[in-house]
Amino acid sequence: CGIVGVSGRAGAPKALDVVLGGLRRLEYRGYDSAGVALLDADGIHVTKRSGRLARLVDAVTAAETDTPVAAFSAPAGIGHTRWATHGGPTDANAHPHVSEDGEVAVIHNGIIENFALLRAELTAAGVELASETDTEVVAHLLARRLAEGGTDLAGAMREVVVRLEGAYTLLAVWRRTPDVVVGARRSSPLVVGVSEDATYLGSDVAAFIDHTRDAVELGEDQVVEARPDGFTITGFDGVPVQGRPFRVTWDA
Ligand code: GLU
Repeated sequence: CGIVGVSGRAGAPKALDVVLGGLRRLEYRGYDSAGVALLDADGIHVTKRSGRLARLVDAVTAAETDTPVAAFSAPAGIGHTRWATHGGPTDANAHPHVSEDGEVAVIHNGIIENFALLRAELTAAGVELASETDTEVVAHLLARRLAEGGTDLAGAMREVVVRLEGAYTLLAVWRRTPDVVVGARRSSPLVVGVSEDATYLGSDVAAFIDHTRDAVELGEDQVVEARPDGFTITGFDGVPVQGRPFRVTWDA
């Protein structure tokens, strides 16, 4: 429902603060669960809770999570508030969803219409799904693609999205490139926020309005790779495209 991502340089605002602040700004959309994935050299650290955003904030503040305290200072991460469509509002169904090998984490707005087919395919291949969501298949499909020798997350994303039917904004992170956040969109919004020391991604400019007003809108069927020093947008076919730059003028 609400999506925030950030890839910052050392010294940029901490991803945890960016994500929690962005999710708070997106609260008006309504949601039933919230979660965050932080990335550092040790891997991907996920904390997620059903209920109000305050439950997620409390879990992090009280360190009632497996996330090591050092990761609270990580410069890259993604966060989500969920409005459940497939699977009830439980901790397990909250996003981010992580692949079995812990290599990939994914958040998603929208609905993946052909998820049942994809779940069946993954189950037949021996994957154990940990949630009832339509979203989780994307984490496994990306991880399998990367394990087969994929060398970059944006490329894996382009190969996976063409298998998905429905409407989606997706953000994904990969343990091997902990300063990269990749996004994709079809029939659901995704905006890039640009600043000197970080690149932001959001389902709405409200996600990063506290940090920058310089934004770039993705078009239909596009993938973005966000890095600390900038971003690259391509079509699902891999052809580079220019996003539409604009400046947010409203008062936050
Ligand atoms: N369909 C996904 C789910 O139920 C995402 C819902 C949303 O947009 O928050 O988990």
